[in-house]
Amino acid sequence: MSEDKEDKIPEDIRKDCQELTALLNKLHLRSLEACGLPLETVPNNLQLQWLSEMNDDDLCEQLWTNCLEHVSSIDAIQTGAVYCFLCKSASCAHAKPETISDVFAGYNNNGSPIWQEFLSLLLELEDDRVDQVVGNNGRLIGKVMSRKRLIDKQFIGSGRNSLTYRIIGQMIAGYFRVNEQQCAITIQIVENASRILHLQIIAPAAMQEMLADSEEKSTGVFARLYHTLHELKHELHSMNSKWKQADQQERGQLREKIFSELRHLGNMIERKGRQSKRRTQHAQNRQNENRPIANAMDDLSNAADHHFYSDKARGSIVVAGKRGRAHVFNPEGKHVTSLILPSDKLEKREQRKRYIHLNKDEREKFKDAVKEHYGKEV
Ligand SMILES: [Zn+2]
Repeated sequence: MSEDKEDKIPEDIRKDCQELTALLNKLHLRSLEACGLPLETVPNNLQLQWLSEMNDDDLCEQLWTNCLEHVSSIDAIQTGAVYCFLCKSASCAHAKPETISDVFAGYNNNGSPIWQEFLSLLLELEDDRVDQVVGNNGRLIGKVMSRKRLIDKQFIGSGRNSLTYRIIGQMIAGYFRVNEQQCAITIQIVENASRILHLQIIAPAAMQEMLADSEEKSTGVFARLYHTLHELKHELHSMNSKWKQADQQERGQLREKIFSELRHLGNMIERKGRQSKRRTQHAQNRQNENRPIANAMDDLSNAADHHFYSDKARGSIVVAGKRGRAHVFNPEGKHVTSLILPSDKLEKREQRKRYIHLNKDEREKFKDAVKEHYGKEV
């Protein structure tokens, strides 16, 4: 466009564009906020495509979908995943361990997470208990790792000092035997951009089930782990207001406390030493397969109407249970998995409209499907 023509843009067109831009800005902020994004983290890029044949519904839908996608992509603290500074996401391929025996070993210099076999990381950390971990009678070992070690390789431009997902410290532990397989776990204390401390548990699905299933038990390594993690979560929760207002010195003291909690967690995991090998394969299988279902059925029959959700992202049905348990079913009524879903996560998914409450008809239909599948009244 020549300068001449540019000069000729009528004043009223300019004015309309001005108004439209202001309106779009307002709309952008309002929609992101409505999707559950805290205002201090609202980004300044949102793509909308407007075509003359589009109506307001089309535009609205496009806006809402974009916002939901955006919010889920920048929510740095996702259950069971670390934040990847390379992809700026906690849902990319780097965010979760590749195998069930991998633990988080720190960040690459480009900010992508490094996952490493538990034993190989212990070796690298020159832990002298390495010999005790291996073999059929291997001991459970917990190892506390400092933030310094985790960001050793990470470049400043790749999120090294970022508050998006700031790991204060972590504990790696293994090997837990689930279905005759060796599993490892990573437990992190993470601070986010709002300076809130979170307990992050990264464990294979089978182990999460064992944990969810251990709530009412008092013995066994998973019960000990469950209860200690539960206490730790409360501890962090009560520490949060202090942490937010603390000066540098106080923060140092609180950090000490966090590390002492992590060491306590390690001691608790190691206390039992050897895991029982007496349980037969059959009994082990039965425990792994039946318990979550029994638990799920129990929670399902006690669930209030507002405990039933449809998961719009996965197309599944979620039933909230006791003490943070959540049970996932497919629409045909088959129990898929159980997990721990803290109430804040649940609320967040509700706010973001990922979880939508089932209405009466849908609840009845779902209960019928479960009944049909398992041949039991629920
Ligand atoms: Zn990534």
